[in-house]
Amino acid sequence: MPIKNRFAELLPEITAWRRDLHEHPEILFETHRTAGIVAEKLRAFGCDEVVEGIGRTGVVGLIRGQGAGPVIGLRADMDALPILEATGLDHASKTAGAMHACGHDGHTAMLLGAAKYLAETRNFDGTVALIFQPAEEGGGGGREMVADGMMERFAIEEVYGMHNWPGIPLGQFAIRPGPFFAATDQFRITLAGKGGHAAKPHETCDPTVMGAQLVLALQTVVSRNCDPVEQMVVSVTSFETASTAYNVIPPSVTLKGTVRTLKDAPRDLAEERIREIAAGIAATFGGTAGIEYERNYPVMVNTAEETDFAAEVARKVAGDCAEAPLIMGGEDFAYLLQERPGAYILVGNGDSAPVHHPEYDFNDEAIPAGCSWWAGIVEARLGRSPG
Ligand SMILES: [Zn+2]
Ligand SMILES: [Zn+2]
Repeated sequence: MPIKNRFAELLPEITAWRRDLHEHPEILFETHRTAGIVAEKLRAFGCDEVVEGIGRTGVVGLIRGQGAGPVIGLRADMDALPILEATGLDHASKTAGAMHACGHDGHTAMLLGAAKYLAETRNFDGTVALIFQPAEEGGGGGREMVADGMMERFAIEEVYGMHNWPGIPLGQFAIRPGPFFAATDQFRITLAGKGGHAAKPHETCDPTVMGAQLVLALQTVVSRNCDPVEQMVVSVTSFETASTAYNVIPPSVTLKGTVRTLKDAPRDLAEERIREIAAGIAATFGGTAGIEYERNYPVMVNTAEETDFAAEVARKVAGDCAEAPLIMGGEDFAYLLQERPGAYILVGNGDSAPVHHPEYDFNDEAIPAGCSWWAGIVEARLGRSPG
């Protein structure tokens, strides 16, 4: 099962779909045009069922094989990012301020390509559920599709996902069992004191000084509280004051940031310590801390057996499958993997700009490998029973 010839034949067509999606990026749940194209193509390929509007703008297509068997879910994401594209390519975004900078255009096109092949050949027993989700980039589109009852409605038993990865050789694969992508939590801390004239600091309770202390103190959650053999990131990413003047001490400042962890215990620890440190620093300087701490995507955990299987299929397609590094980014496929066993794999995008960069572009030459992996997952997992 190396690259399937059919995908080499389909490459120009799939590339054209991909570039059209790239020209028309849509953000979060606003993937109306994309979802419409996906549903229209799935129907044209002869899918047995196509359901739109799952998890708001998600789409699920079903392809039934020749005999009875399990139902497996294959998932692609459809959404773009609020980035101004700087590639200068012919197929660059036509929507200023929106860009497929994470390659979800490529993911959608590859799963459509696999769907076309699977609907043509149906060389399997069981059912394939093709899952196209909105809002992977922070909106929890996968969570919404799960909450909408997708797993039960289509009786999905296992799930698989794939993401292109710059830096991995083009068309090669990498995967790891267990925790793979991090939990992504976020905090917003408002430090309140007393504003006033900058020349009379003694009459104020200066929240900018509290904030400066707090940014540094939060660094100790990773360096002094977290077990050094665990992974944790605490980043303060925003520091805003209510004053824009040179000579006014503001009454409050607001800090925002993100926390990344790969297990529950460090995740709980980080929240507890951030709350304690913020309250403690504020109290030290005579102010108060208002803390909003939001737990967003959970840790994405690949199950062992399905990871081995996914790696085996990748080896058949590409000759090898590397061990992927831990990634402190988040991935809302985590919600699907909380519900069902499954695996998520990386496919090499070669030596490109990194994802979320204004010069990034999905490499269309990865399409045959990605499509062959999808088709391989189906034909190996839902192999035709003899006779
Ligand atoms: Zn992304
Ligand atoms: Zn992505």
